[in-house]
Amino acid sequence: MQSNKIYHAAMYLRLSQEDGDVSNATKAESNSISNQRTLITQFLENKDDIELVSTRIDDGYTGSNFDRPQFQLMIEDIKKGIVDCVIVKDLSRFGREYIDAGNYIERIFPMLGVRFISVTDGIDSINQNNTDMIVSFKNLLNDAYCRDISIKIRANLQALMKQGKFIGAFPVYGYMKDPDDVHRLVIDPEAATTVRDIYKYKISGMNNAEITRALDSRKILTPLAYKESKGDNLKSPFRKNKERTWDVATIKAILTNPIYTGMLAQGKYTTPNHKVKKCFKKPESEWIIVHGTHEAIIDTREFNLVQKIMSLDTRTSPNERSVYPLSGLVVCGDCGASMVKKDVPGSNGKVYSYYICNKNKQTHQCSSHRIPKEKIEDIILKVVQTHIANILDIKRIMEFIDKVPFQELDIKELEKKKAYQTKNMEKYRQLRNSLYEDLKEGLISQADYNELFEGYKHKISELLMVIGEYEREIQDILQDRNEKYKWIDHFAGYQNIQNLTRIAAVELIDQIKVYEKDRIEVTFNFDDCYTQILDQLTQLGYEVDSDEDGRIHFEKMEVPSEEKV
Ligand SMILES: [Zn+2]
Repeated sequence: MQSNKIYHAAMYLRLSQEDGDVSNATKAESNSISNQRTLITQFLENKDDIELVSTRIDDGYTGSNFDRPQFQLMIEDIKKGIVDCVIVKDLSRFGREYIDAGNYIERIFPMLGVRFISVTDGIDSINQNNTDMIVSFKNLLNDAYCRDISIKIRANLQALMKQGKFIGAFPVYGYMKDPDDVHRLVIDPEAATTVRDIYKYKISGMNNAEITRALDSRKILTPLAYKESKGDNLKSPFRKNKERTWDVATIKAILTNPIYTGMLAQGKYTTPNHKVKKCFKKPESEWIIVHGTHEAIIDTREFNLVQKIMSLDTRTSPNERSVYPLSGLVVCGDCGASMVKKDVPGSNGKVYSYYICNKNKQTHQCSSHRIPKEKIEDIILKVVQTHIANILDIKRIMEFIDKVPFQELDIKELEKKKAYQTKNMEKYRQLRNSLYEDLKEGLISQADYNELFEGYKHKISELLMVIGEYEREIQDILQDRNEKYKWIDHFAGYQNIQNLTRIAAVELIDQIKVYEKDRIEVTFNFDDCYTQILDQLTQLGYEVDSDEDGRIHFEKMEVPSEEKV
């Protein structure tokens, strides 16, 4: 059906107060008047049936009700028949007075025969039924994160997120959108260098405030200033501070964002229902996480290391101004409290430092477990050296027999776990399927049925994820993509260690337990990998033994070699 009707349109632009209260100034920019105008003009470029007759601009920054002069003039034009089409960038241009706006969109505009178009919401009253409009409209009650998203679009977004596509409007500092694919992130080399520096600073022992000072003194642009320098026009009346210097919150955000390891965690926010404006952060288990979606700036090991340093920092006693190599790593073997440093002045004017059980220090409910700082550091250094020597031996053997047999063992192990969980899942499937029979036979009530059904459903989807994870790991091994043996190089990197530095201690040691009478137990990082590889060596025909110094010895047992036909 062809219609030759030409619509006479008014574009309605408005700055709303909400545009200013989003912490993110880029958001404000995307809603600036010029941006709204450009977007609508572009939209109109190939619309032959619409003729623009007026542009109405309300600065809603001060006004808080729907009583806006330019809007009223537009309504006058509609009544006079000068305008029969209203175009806005998005529904939120009407501000928070949705009820009033709804009145116009749902009742008054249709009554006056006005065509209504909301460009980014994809709404055009000419080809939309009323329900769709209302649905999109109700969605507006969501807050900043969700405001622009209609239910339909949201479902689409979910699908994109699950495919590991980036759906955000603005990539995080360090990345930019791939010019050929808006859903893909690529490294922004200049910003990425700064991100790497921030991680390096942290690993070297600097705290977040020191990092801001280091960046400022090097005249490194803040993420926002950097964006501006790249030509993104962010001028906006709503910008609260100029962000010319780095702040600790930005540093913390960069140091904790796993996006830098090449993964996307999206779908973190939700709104409980359309009546509640607030956005809630979903529990981490419900985020949509996809690994390997873009190139990493920080490798996973380094990222985890930084997370660990930050958690140790919080465990370190607040009066310990400077950080010692073992700060936060030592705990009392008997009560589990942290061991804290205590300085005792000696008669000769020298100060002796000890680690003691914090519970003993605070409440005397545990014994002191006192151990001199130098002594424990000496012991730990020797244990570390021995452990590294063992790992270097393992590395040599692995180079000798090649990694293929190890990979085969890994895959066998994973297949076993996968089979176990698959069986588990089948069990729940059967239980779920038999529920209906139980209900029909009156064994369970409808309420039980509903509850059990949901429970089984949840369990099944959980197991499907676990199984998927095993499959992914197997694929990684098959394609030699996994980083399983990286930990060996990580220890090997310290093979000449002569001093126990803070960074070495944090990188290599998970925890040190101190018992009375100087008995010490060290758990290294990657101990599970270490144990597993010793186990695999046994399976591959090596006899593994350790001497009293903790050195491990390997001996290849004579086993009848498998005949190859
Ligand atoms: Zn204790």
